[in-house]
Amino acid sequence: MKTLDRCPACDSGELIPIDFPTDLKDHEVREFGSVVIKDSGFALCARCQLLFARNRQDRSDAVGYYDAFSKLEKREYAVYPPPREFLDAQNRLSDYLFQLLGSEAGVLEGKQSVLNIRSECGMHLARLRDDYGFKELYGLDHFESNIRYAKENLGLVNMGLLHPFELEIPFDRKQFDLILCNHLVTHAFEPMSLLAHLRQLLSEDGAVVLYNEIDHMPRFYEGSLYKKGVVNFHKQLLTEPSLHNMCLLGGFQPKMLACNPEKIRWASNRGSMVFLLRKGEAIAPDALPPFDRKPVLDAIAEGRAKYDRHLERKAKKAETIPLYKTVTSVKRWLRRRV
Ligand SMILES: [Zn+2]
Repeated sequence: MKTLDRCPACDSGELIPIDFPTDLKDHEVREFGSVVIKDSGFALCARCQLLFARNRQDRSDAVGYYDAFSKLEKREYAVYPPPREFLDAQNRLSDYLFQLLGSEAGVLEGKQSVLNIRSECGMHLARLRDDYGFKELYGLDHFESNIRYAKENLGLVNMGLLHPFELEIPFDRKQFDLILCNHLVTHAFEPMSLLAHLRQLLSEDGAVVLYNEIDHMPRFYEGSLYKKGVVNFHKQLLTEPSLHNMCLLGGFQPKMLACNPEKIRWASNRGSMVFLLRKGEAIAPDALPPFDRKPVLDAIAEGRAKYDRHLERKAKKAETIPLYKTVTSVKRWLRRRV
């Protein structure tokens, strides 16, 4: 575990503390062998707008940390065969993504090779093969069950396990025309190393697609980040401008294609952004557009006020309604047992 004292995107030391709790705030168990899960210690970078977890695992404890979560999370989708609903959801996400990408010149047509990072069950790769003529298909995922489905049911050969900390490519091919990245920047322990690696892996006229990257701006307003806490896997709480800036710093020309208005259960969250990146020249941090931090800080303050009002109402109810008290204490007891 380490604590960053500079922004992981632009290296600025001017950081504004943000008091979001983690989603593990109600869990008593936070130690798993040598892995201790702490509060994320969020901060907002005053230069590039990135809101990020200052406390994060390093290379030595990242694997143990991911294993620890497998004991905490109920992963109904990570089984073989995956539930029908999961497969349908992946298909719907394919429809959505390829409709967006199909209207961008030179992304899908006439291309051969594709790498899908966090490919889940391999549905997008199979669709690119069957519907768009891609011939060389490569996928990486965290779950053995997904890899098995991709190989046995979808006939994909080049599937590998994704390392939690860094992008290792266990294939002979080291350059790709299209790289699809599923919810990758939000989780990255070292986001700029990730972008640099993606740039290396991309052919000159190829494109990287970042999908399932949540735009947090509406969530700041809602106060839900206080109520539920922030998933401890989420190291970058992105917004459209902060992701845009990060891509510019990483040597890409970014374009936001869409922000998904509806949730596709098990495949995509409401408010997930899709970014298309092509190779460009990296810009210096000082050349970033000026950051008016007021809208972000106002949104977070509004969310906090909503949450405080929620706590007040809850306290009042607990005082006056005995049944509510019982339900709350049973809920708390159940949560402890997870
Ligand atoms: Zn920054």
